[in-house]
Amino acid sequence: MTGGVDIGGTKIAVGIVDADGKVLARTQAPTDPDRYAASLQLIATMLRETATQAGVELAGIGIGSTGPVDPMRGEFGDVDFLPGWRGKNLVKDLAQIFNLQVALENDGDAVALAEAGWGAGRNRSRLIYVTVGTGIGGGMVFDGKLYHGVDGAHPEVGHHVVDPAGPQCSCGFRGCWEALAAGPAMVAWLESHAPAAYPHREAVTAQKICELAQQGDAVALRAVEHEAYYLGLGLANLINLFTPDAIVLSGSVMKSAPLFLDRIRAVIRSGCRFVPADKTKLTLASLGDDTNLIGAARVWHYRFGQQGQRK
Ligand SMILES: [Zn+2]
Repeated sequence: MTGGVDIGGTKIAVGIVDADGKVLARTQAPTDPDRYAASLQLIATMLRETATQAGVELAGIGIGSTGPVDPMRGEFGDVDFLPGWRGKNLVKDLAQIFNLQVALENDGDAVALAEAGWGAGRNRSRLIYVTVGTGIGGGMVFDGKLYHGVDGAHPEVGHHVVDPAGPQCSCGFRGCWEALAAGPAMVAWLESHAPAAYPHREAVTAQKICELAQQGDAVALRAVEHEAYYLGLGLANLINLFTPDAIVLSGSVMKSAPLFLDRIRAVIRSGCRFVPADKTKLTLASLGDDTNLIGAARVWHYRFGQQGQRK
């Protein structure tokens, strides 16, 4: 039984995950971005409580965290929204408290590992995981190995430029995939293109746009079409660059995937002529709402467990 710790900008989820990726017990608390020591104690308490609740002993602990983190040393880097955690080593600290092996990865990488091992990516040798919500993130698992860059860096799939004349992105470029195709981009498009008398403009969200599109709202359908076009361009770029067996799609926007998939596939077919793009399966993530927690637990399996048992 593995303890999973999922650290996000707003909440920390902790739970117990069995050897098949099933969550046996879970709890969560708001993230305290400034106080690391108190957070460490809180995480330890949540781990003990959920282990007791599930009636199990922990064999190890896996952590998935909003990046950047140093997966090899276990340290938190310059995480904007966790200023009090910078340079702290949660891996070492939890290992000391529990006397167990502890492993850490960026949360996108953690979920990529979980989908590859327990989810939609099983039997796929080269897998790219993409999550589309308030941003676009992901992770890559090639031939069973999580791809890290220099110094263990996590590649940012959301920050490849799709249109240099596009909207400003937080990374410094204009027109990144994330700036054009994450949920807020769909909202921004609708806000600037809907006619003056459009009744749903006020406080509209990506989810609301998808609901309206499902009901046949013409403006929402155009926003969805625009969204699918940019999703398709980014996915086509990933296919051209990596020719993966599968791309596993997740995130709040992808909860409405049926609205987008036909158009996405058409965009991919319209280019990608020099690679076997039709062999890349676009599939939806299969681990449900606890996917980040399951991913965190999978990080321990990946680093310390018996790998290769579940292909
Ligand atoms: Zn960017």
